Amino acid sequence: MSKLADAKREPFATHPTIGRCDAEATRVVHVGDVAFGGSEFVVIAGPCAVESREQIEDIARSMAKHHAKVLRGGAFKPRTNPHTFRGLGFEGVELLRRASVKSGLPFVTEVLSPADVGELGPRVDAFQVGARNMQNFALLDELGRQSKPVLLKRGFGATLSEWLHAAEYVAQGGNTEIILCERGIRSFGGETRFVLDLAGALWAKQHCVLPVVIDPSHATGDPALVAPLTRAAAAAGLDGVMVEVHPDPSVALSDGGQALMVDEFATLMSSLRLVCEAVERPLAS
Ligand code: PEP
Ligand code: MN
Repeated sequence: MSKLADAKREPFATHPTIGRCDAEATRVVHVGDVAFGGSEFVVIAGPCAVESREQIEDIARSMAKHHAKVLRGGAFKPRTNPHTFRGLGFEGVELLRRASVKSGLPFVTEVLSPADVGELGPRVDAFQVGARNMQNFALLDELGRQSKPVLLKRGFGATLSEWLHAAEYVAQGGNTEIILCERGIRSFGGETRFVLDLAGALWAKQHCVLPVVIDPSHATGDPALVAPLTRAAAAAGLDGVMVEVHPDPSVALSDGGQALMVDEFATLMSSLRLVCEAVERPLAS
């Protein structure tokens, strides 16, 4: 085999479970009945954290109305400062479940500890692994034994290979239902919260069979940048996006500064639909 052919196969050799072999298609991963990596571009939306029954039911209703397909909301929050709101825990998961049933949207929520995985498994539609836990190998191993899908965020200090290796941890345990999420990496400068590595997200999509989405909310920390980056992701051929939306960002208990308001989200969806049509990858509806 030529050196070039070897190099082309290398990702497959390094990541035997998720590596892409030549022209292999992206694997379709389902969250509830929503398909990622198929013919449609998918939007996950909701608040950073579940704060109350009213808040999550209100936003879930709005997200369904404006054609988000999956609800997000954190109940176990990995906060940089432990003196800030750290989530409602299992009570928050129950609130998400109710909001999910009422709105008809399946939901994804973060799991912080391997000890919680078993209890959360039957309750959630998908597990989220946050950036700070991307290399929590005990957590990844535990998720590998589950049947629910895993949205695996890239650590903000992780290389692309480290990200794919983390996915490989989950996959080698038997759970290959994984969606990768690029949420920005550390660079210099503080004008944006992190730097969205759009090229890295595309590289990941080219080198493995998993669907890849981006999270422009955490990547930028700036609601004004969320819509254009979402449209860029759709135009570039990525599989979806996860955005933070809050009924009233000014009173949000976490990440209010980056959350879209509901009417901003509705505007984003209208412009996104046009881009999706232009690239013949319809917006899931
Ligand atoms: C989140 O999605 O709310 C979150 C904490 O994201 P990240 O792990 O990317 O910081
Ligand atoms: Mn957040």
